[in-house]
Amino acid sequence: MKHIHAGKVRDLYADGESLILVASDRVSVYDVVLPTPIPDKGALLTQLSNWWFDYFADVPNHVVSTTDVPDEFTGRAVRVRPLQMVQVECIARGYLVGSGLQEYRHTGAVSGVRLPEGLREGDRLPEPIFTPTTKASAGHDEPITFDDVVNQEGREVAERLRALTLEIYTRGAEHAAERGVIIADTKVEFGWNADVLTLGDEVLTSDSSRFWPADEWEPGRAQRSFDKQFVRDWATSTGWDKEPPGPEIPSDIVAATREKYMDAYQRITGHTWS
Ligand code: ATP
Ligand code: MG
Repeated sequence: MKHIHAGKVRDLYADGESLILVASDRVSVYDVVLPTPIPDKGALLTQLSNWWFDYFADVPNHVVSTTDVPDEFTGRAVRVRPLQMVQVECIARGYLVGSGLQEYRHTGAVSGVRLPEGLREGDRLPEPIFTPTTKASAGHDEPITFDDVVNQEGREVAERLRALTLEIYTRGAEHAAERGVIIADTKVEFGWNADVLTLGDEVLTSDSSRFWPADEWEPGRAQRSFDKQFVRDWATSTGWDKEPPGPEIPSDIVAATREKYMDAYQRITGHTWS
């Protein structure tokens, strides 16, 4: 197979008409891949994403097969249709946190969406909002407004991207809420399979979303989470300047991170990880 793309976390190979999307155990923080892998992370992300693709059975997605992949990648790879990826990272936010919170504090808005005054860290938004970013091939993605997406993709496509992103977020968040998990925000990517707008990449995973235990949610402070935030916080606490190389992750932090990814998988899917 021809290796056609090395992402921070995943690799893409061409295999005949399809692509093999392989999730590694790498973890990236502030767009820097840390030197220490998290065991099972690639498989946990792949299995959770596959579970959601089935859940959103009515949304066209890129999956061709979850089993017809080379043996060495079993469990952490999917055979997918090659899509012409839309060059927008489609983000939905239901809660105020992270870069959204920073932007709100500076401007009172996130990606051009004006929000009520007086919101605190971790507050639930009056309704989920669409806050797209650029899809930078290197470096950091930058926030853009809905109008920027309209200029880039045309109004009809921009409106479909926004509606689909908010629908996936809302339906996913409803399911997760029944399992005691708040999905604070998430990122999805779409692409074109001929003229069909298709959900690609990964869906509602601990890498692409913020997952919080609902029973511990308390606006006004940082939330406990089942996602990458834990590693981000640890990396920040080391005094690291966010420039490569990133710090080696100690074994207790590796183990705790693995537990979080596993916890998210188990709560959301209802399956036991083995
Ligand atoms: P970058 O690609 O900028 O390094 P990243 O670190 O997010 O970003 P990964 O998530 O590791 O990259 O790699 C997955 C890549 O594969 C993404 O660029 C994503 O847009 C792309 N991709 C996902 N699904 C498909 C598909 N069906 N067809 C083509 N490309 C896809
Ligand atoms: Mg990605």
